[in-house]
Amino acid sequence: MNDDHDHDEHKHEHKHEHKHEHKHEEKSPQAIRTEALESLLIEKGLLSEHAVDNVITNYAQRVGPMNGALLVARAWTDPEFKQRLLSNATQAIAEYDFKGGQVDHLVVVENTPERHNAVVCTLCSCYPWAVLGLPPKWYKDPAYRSRIVREPRTLLAEMGLSLDTNIEIRVWDSSAEVRYMVLPMRPENTDNLTQDELAALVSRDSMIGVEVLSQAGQSS
Ligand code: FE
Repeated sequence: MNDDHDHDEHKHEHKHEHKHEHKHEEKSPQAIRTEALESLLIEKGLLSEHAVDNVITNYAQRVGPMNGALLVARAWTDPEFKQRLLSNATQAIAEYDFKGGQVDHLVVVENTPERHNAVVCTLCSCYPWAVLGLPPKWYKDPAYRSRIVREPRTLLAEMGLSLDTNIEIRVWDSSAEVRYMVLPMRPENTDNLTQDELAALVSRDSMIGVEVLSQAGQSS
């Protein structure tokens, strides 16, 4: 019920299960090659930096999070799918064939009126790319990674999400290959919306757990 307890539990899980492959943290030879190629193309005038940024923006803000949003909207409207998503997300999303990877062991955790979930990778920046796209900059920030564990309520409030003290906060630390995604609560007054309209309400941050969705079209 309190944050300290969550913290202890978290540390415990972390010690025993957080075996990381840190290939993605340091620059891989592929990443270095990609960067070199990118600078060369820009230098030769074959590619504009702007175009590269556009691709990244597209991946970060649209393609990825939209996949997650689609899953959330479907879970809100299809109880059978929601059940499958919560019991084995990797299996449940297999039919979509999402690109981007990092969802071989995807776990979806559901927000309820009593419990709020947030996701972190305390050691680096593990993230379910295929459903959420590229991680936001702050997700990789050491301050977020340590504080969301140590003082989740305070940090979330600073990030704009003030949770009532009677709401339990659980923080999920990405382990070996496990990636987490939050299933946010469906906003009120959305009964008449279609699945697509619902998906449009779902923000990336609500699926990381640093935001909740309030009235249609708005997030808190
Ligand atoms: Fe990591």
